[in-house]
Amino acid sequence: MAQRAGKQALEIMAGDIVTGLARETAERLGIRLLDGPLERPAIAKTDGSSQMMRGLYRRSPHWIGPKKPRPLGAARRLAKLGLIGAGGVGANIAHLAANGDMADEIALVDIVPGLAQSVAMDLNHASGISGSKTRASGGMALSGIAGSEVVIVTAGRARSPGMSRSDLIDINARVIRSAAEAIISHAPDAIVIVVTNPLDEMTFEMLRSTGLPREKVLGMAGTLDSSRFRNALARAAKVHPSDVEAITLGSHGDEMAPIVSKAKIKGRPVSDYLSQAEIDACVRDAVTGGGQVVALRKTGSATLAPAHASIELVDHIRGAKAGAVPVSVMLEGEYGISGVVLGVPCHLGARGVVAIEEMTLPPGEMAALKAAADAIRKRLGG
Ligand code: NAD
Repeated sequence: MAQRAGKQALEIMAGDIVTGLARETAERLGIRLLDGPLERPAIAKTDGSSQMMRGLYRRSPHWIGPKKPRPLGAARRLAKLGLIGAGGVGANIAHLAANGDMADEIALVDIVPGLAQSVAMDLNHASGISGSKTRASGGMALSGIAGSEVVIVTAGRARSPGMSRSDLIDINARVIRSAAEAIISHAPDAIVIVVTNPLDEMTFEMLRSTGLPREKVLGMAGTLDSSRFRNALARAAKVHPSDVEAITLGSHGDEMAPIVSKAKIKGRPVSDYLSQAEIDACVRDAVTGGGQVVALRKTGSATLAPAHASIELVDHIRGAKAGAVPVSVMLEGEYGISGVVLGVPCHLGARGVVAIEEMTLPPGEMAALKAAADAIRKRLGG
């Protein structure tokens, strides 16, 4: 019984049976019959995490919910993204960057007449559907990258079947030197991401030829190799790739070091889900993944996953993602290694490498990292 506007009221809930006699009696006694519920419950949040928290809370009043992840600050749009090389990887990077509205302007450069212009035009034609605000331009002159905040270099030859990445050293070092000259002349403040193979050696060449500080010259390979490793583990364990955390370090080649000791499936060590033989097969898959694509394509190497892996670095630079990502950088004593460009976990920001994370690795994995450093040093004649 409730008191409403000085009159007594009776709350009638759905399913209550109110007979004619009851209504007459209520009227005679001056009691109002009101459809309930009179107190409306607060509207429950319907998103998945609130529902889960309510469910868990009902189970234990002492349960303390996990802290909500701290939202990242707004991701910065780059004023200009420069792409030297508009082939398979370069064009796909441009596509992802334009679709993601990551830059006001994307400038593509390629030595093949018409190629960079055609990719830029194609992208601009798509904007009527995609709604992308990015304006793309293309040309043969390296001065096209002028003023870029980030320059991604994919120019050079890709592998053909039977070729190792290091077979490309001499051919692609010349291309890197001309790209370096253009960067210093036209975009000296840019952060440079090298994609051209052999990756660690070409990143070293870019660093040497530009004279830029090591924080500004990054090699992309670890994000790709880690993605291949996560894909292999997810398929073997029959889980979603987002359930897998795994990283590869070392070189982008035969001396790659997939870090099994830190790999997790649904937050548990991979050995809880997979046998040693299955884990070994996943490691092999990560190391040979690029070669498997080359063997099938016959006239080139992978383009889609490498483009996503390059965009991953751009996203970390512009603040859309946080945490450590594997990047090839010049080491100066980290992991006990100096004078070699090698894949290690890095935190990135608007100035390039903000910090190198030194993970504690078991002796076997530490030895693999040092072996990768020795192999690269040897290939560079050091
Ligand atoms: P691609 O042949 O499709 O494109 C390369 C482009 O570079 C060509 O269009 C070519 O005309 C252009 N080019 C060559 N010399 C140039 C110069 N001096 N100036 C401007 N443009 C020039 O090859 P792709 O599939 O895009 O691969 C590009 C490079 O990236 C290759 O070296 C490949 O091995 C490497 N790659 C690296 C990774 C990685 O993880 N780091 C992954 C995939 C590919």
